[in-house]
Amino acid sequence: MIKYAIPEISLKSRPCWCGFPTGKVLYRTDRWNQRLQTIVCGRCGTIRLDPRMDRTQAAHYYSTQYPERQRDPAEFFREQADQNAPQYLARFIRPDMDILDYGCGPGGKLAGLASRGFRISGFDLNPLYLEFAESRGLRRVAQGRQFDLIYLSHTLEHWTDLAEDLQNILQSFVRPGGTVAIEVPLLDRLLLGGRRDGIHGDLYFVHIWYFSVRSLDKLMNSLGCRRVHTDRLTLCVYTFEGIPEGRTVAATPLYDAGLRTLIAVCSNPIAAVGAGLINRVIRYIDLSAAARLNPKP
Ligand SMILES: [Zn+2]
Repeated sequence: MIKYAIPEISLKSRPCWCGFPTGKVLYRTDRWNQRLQTIVCGRCGTIRLDPRMDRTQAAHYYSTQYPERQRDPAEFFREQADQNAPQYLARFIRPDMDILDYGCGPGGKLAGLASRGFRISGFDLNPLYLEFAESRGLRRVAQGRQFDLIYLSHTLEHWTDLAEDLQNILQSFVRPGGTVAIEVPLLDRLLLGGRRDGIHGDLYFVHIWYFSVRSLDKLMNSLGCRRVHTDRLTLCVYTFEGIPEGRTVAATPLYDAGLRTLIAVCSNPIAAVGAGLINRVIRYIDLSAAARLNPKP
């Protein structure tokens, strides 16, 4: 059954967040075999939908057609709370911090901290969810407020104008030296059995970007962030040092070639089972090991 039908929107091919226009085609369908093209960027190695929505199309789609917009906030809240985010974020959080959950939905991920007296603010484009989050102790974001930690959980992969919007958000909301905690479906996990059918099993119309730890590092480094932690499944944590003058993207050709090989191997069901078994023994393969062999530009 098709859970997310592709809407009838006229889409254009648009460059990667790194500015590079083209890439190599990986898949031509989504997980329900609807026509949807996914490519891997020829410069930074990020996987993206091409073509994809623009900002205006996305705003209209999310507010009118996106099936998730009508979910019962209370049920969604319980699902979020069950993820136990306060537990795995504990080492990055102190009681004296101002924390922002950007794209908080009904607020379930950090509401447990708010009820223990932590200062948690929330923002969401869906007014119904934001109202629910406020009823559970999250504060509304005040104009001009800067935070010690911003939490972006399963939201970046949906953004049509990723680098521009993320730069604005970091500049507006995070004080230099602050922490940026990001959760996305990392390739390291998808390739190695995190989902049936690897990356293809996760593809759908609103998931625009797929990152490995390394390609997410490239995006974040270009915006003045330095990684301090990753679990190689979904979580990467960065320190924000301030937006640099010009945006540069590091080239890692050896790493990118290794990643493309791994994607090709994991597209073959038998090889993917083999790779998964090996990985079970050696734990999540450290894809960034290849990047370390590559001299810094
Ligand atoms: Zn790119």
